[in-house]
Amino acid sequence: MKINSNYLNLEDSYLFFNIAKKVEEFAAANPDKTIYRLGIGDVTLPLAPAVVEALERASAEMGEAAAFKGYGDYEGYGFLRRSICGYYAKKGVAVGGDEVFVSDGAKSDLGNILDIFSEDNAVLIPDPVYPVYVDTNIMAGRGVIYIEGNEENGFLPMPDSSVRPDIIYLCSPNNPTGGVYSGEQLKVWVDYANAYGAVILFDSAYEAFVRDGGLPTSIYEVDGARTCAIEFCSLSKTAGFTGTRCGYTVIPRELSRAGQSLNRLWLRRQSTKFNGVSYIIQRGAEAVFTEAGLSQSKRNVDYYMQNAMIMAEALEKKGVWFTGGRNSPYIWLKCPGGMSSWQFFDHLLNEANVVGTPGAGFGRAGEGFFRLTAFGDRANIETAMQRFAGVI
Ligand code: PLP
Repeated sequence: MKINSNYLNLEDSYLFFNIAKKVEEFAAANPDKTIYRLGIGDVTLPLAPAVVEALERASAEMGEAAAFKGYGDYEGYGFLRRSICGYYAKKGVAVGGDEVFVSDGAKSDLGNILDIFSEDNAVLIPDPVYPVYVDTNIMAGRGVIYIEGNEENGFLPMPDSSVRPDIIYLCSPNNPTGGVYSGEQLKVWVDYANAYGAVILFDSAYEAFVRDGGLPTSIYEVDGARTCAIEFCSLSKTAGFTGTRCGYTVIPRELSRAGQSLNRLWLRRQSTKFNGVSYIIQRGAEAVFTEAGLSQSKRNVDYYMQNAMIMAEALEKKGVWFTGGRNSPYIWLKCPGGMSSWQFFDHLLNEANVVGTPGAGFGRAGEGFFRLTAFGDRANIETAMQRFAGVI
């Protein structure tokens, strides 16, 4: 027998392993020192009370003969899809219930969506980037064309007309750079995709962190997106669901390629390989979109964004170049003094006892940059940034 030898082409990811090892060694050598962690990519605040209440209620229903639920709809219960459509409507975006597919999170859908595309497709991926886009394509044997984010373009690369991709990944607000595309910039991408028959896979996992009302939080706010874009959303960061697991993907009815509706192909894929998200979790997710759920979840997001503001102000004061932090929980900074990503990691750990994430771990174009995250405790972040400012 043969294995999928494409897996052998994956680069081993030592990023978080190496970080953990260095931190562990430092802690062992310096047992008296407090370590400040600004590398956390996971939420730290608990679920909103409205969500917990809904989860409890739904759990109780599962023990009652009259309310018990077995298999649900492949694409998610109608009650949740209607709530998601209502959430879009508040943004002024019309999305139909049959265009929404509920899943256990954006990561699964971002990987699984490739099932409906041919392996021959050319894929365009920004660098630096959330590593899942690259690895899932390598697993399928697809070659990847990188488009470089850099200081000049503010880590928001724009299309290059000499390249003709079939699949384009965009992540806005971006992990790791915190960059957010404007409506005008997204319009250029949408026109490019429509002109060449490409499909944009738009990762909107951090849409809830956008504070500037002029910036889009969905690609469907842009004219023409319904004929070229699939949007991936997650409750992980929006509502603290990283451990609870629920997300949703939108595929407009108008989106077809090679004469086939991508919405229908995805439904076919999901109904064959996926049996849905648990009823209990979907009831919890529904509660996120209630008035109480939205305001309670927003309070948590506001807390993280206040952290981000404290971090951004500290960097501004020191004249450090950075992106993100204003509309994103991520801050992407240029390593001071021309240090490499790992040199700066060591410097920060040894001199300030602060931990972040070396940018080189997110792609070649990330070398010389560094990611900080705002998903932490306020007092901890304030102290960490004072210590940070003292060593740069
Ligand atoms: N997309 C991006 C850009 C992310 O950073 C993450 C998680 O960190 C995800 C998707 C995964 O989201 P989920 O928890 O819904 O799988």
